[in-house]
Amino acid sequence: MASSTKYIFITGGVTSSLGKGIIAASLGKLLQARGFKVTIQKFDPYLNIDPGTLNPYEHGECYVTDDGAETDLDLGHYERFLNITTSQGNNITTGRIYNNVITKERKGEFLGKTVQVIPHITDEIKANFYKLGEEGEFDVVITEIGGCVGDIESLPFIEAVRQAKWDLGPNRFLVIHLTLIPYLKAAKELKTKPTQHSVKQLLEAGIQPDILVCRTEYHLPADVKKKLALFCNVQLNNVIEAMDADSIYDVPLLMKKEKLDERVMTKLKLTSKENTDLENWKDFLGKLKNPTQEVTIGLVGKYVSLPDAYKSIIESFTHAGASIECDVNLRLISSEEINPDNIAHKLQDLDGILVAPGFGERGFEGKIETVKYARENNIPFLGICLGMQVAVIEYARNVLNLKNANSTEMDPTTSTPVIGLMEEQKNIDQMGGTMRLGSYACDLKKGSKAFQAYGKSKIQERHRHRYEFNNDYLATMEEHGMIATGKNPETGLVEIVEIKNHPWFVGVQFHPEYKSTVLTPQPLFVKFIQAAADKKIK
Ligand code: GLN
Repeated sequence: MASSTKYIFITGGVTSSLGKGIIAASLGKLLQARGFKVTIQKFDPYLNIDPGTLNPYEHGECYVTDDGAETDLDLGHYERFLNITTSQGNNITTGRIYNNVITKERKGEFLGKTVQVIPHITDEIKANFYKLGEEGEFDVVITEIGGCVGDIESLPFIEAVRQAKWDLGPNRFLVIHLTLIPYLKAAKELKTKPTQHSVKQLLEAGIQPDILVCRTEYHLPADVKKKLALFCNVQLNNVIEAMDADSIYDVPLLMKKEKLDERVMTKLKLTSKENTDLENWKDFLGKLKNPTQEVTIGLVGKYVSLPDAYKSIIESFTHAGASIECDVNLRLISSEEINPDNIAHKLQDLDGILVAPGFGERGFEGKIETVKYARENNIPFLGICLGMQVAVIEYARNVLNLKNANSTEMDPTTSTPVIGLMEEQKNIDQMGGTMRLGSYACDLKKGSKAFQAYGKSKIQERHRHRYEFNNDYLATMEEHGMIATGKNPETGLVEIVEIKNHPWFVGVQFHPEYKSTVLTPQPLFVKFIQAAADKKIK
């Protein structure tokens, strides 16, 4: 283990959904702005090897890294805040830990021994805690422990954190506990008891948190802070208030105001290398909060009742909108509820339409209707992954008059498979981690909308799909005005389609949303929003 790397562990108490990922990313941002090399990793206590096979309703969007890992959506926050790339090493689940240990057991690596949670599982967890620090020469590795303290399933992670203290020593080990201070309306009081209890649970597990970050709707009065310090055994100035914020992007500055970074640096004996550089961040926030234009964009998909299912897309609109000072009013619309009779009513006041990624038949025909509406009414359109495939099918059905055109995902026996299973997918019998995943190259056609957006002809974007544009239909599609403007240089796989005679109609097989960050908004989103704003003026 690199002997200078410092390790910060973030646990959560009282309830889930307190935003550990945002606090981790915000602290990471503040330390990075002081010149430290930082990465963040997430340890999830569930038994799936990765979230790739989970329905988005379980844990929200599945985020994909350059190296093709299917990961927790918090990794998206880490990338968006820190402008770094993450990898498989940044997201480890209990399933992966057990899988590694059992594989080693079968190989005979523990020959003669009884394999147990302690030490074998905890050793494997710790090896993974330290892995990125060993490989990446990071000054600081922040580890977010998923779930809540007290959950049975996170016990081995908590035990591994306890042990890590002794591996690392006092100046390289720090625990931040994120907790909730609820406000009881009837009593008009902020209550500290749930936090006292969750810290007690940590103490029972042998962990004394160094810093408490307290989510609250109201400012914490001095006496409440004092009480927390006293009962939770932490220094008074290590009780940090985390007020609810308007935007997740306010949190780094709020945490700076509360001196979270200074408290961490004092405890870890880190000396700041540079003055804190947050100018770009403030510039972004300034634009985000003072838009000079506004558009309404419809996001049409089937998981709309849980916006977390589209986390990266929603954040991409925030980054891209801010970059051109445009407020994007995003309307999530269920494709299941769209039909030819109500479509004009449902989509009439939109300046732009995005058809979302997805799997399976539910809501599919509503997406076809949506694309048709955007195409015929010259509404700026962005189709992502399944959204691009739908655009191809719609064009084949309604412009080329191939009425049976479909994807073999929706109709395996279709006579007109304009979208079909990729060759390398045909013999796959396992569902987990077997899609076409991660970063692939794409060459752009000069003069296309995509080329205008990126300003270059060679790009790399991330993927997550099994089906592809069937090149048997390419020539006819192009003759009729749907052009392949982006292709994989090695395989010829169509990555982007555009419609010639449309103000802005782009379908992408990849997921541009995974690479959008605060400081580098994704170019297709920027141009899409711009096209929507231009349409509005006309
Ligand atoms: N279901 C489609 C495929 O597997 C699209 C996937 C997606 O939208 N991510 O090809």
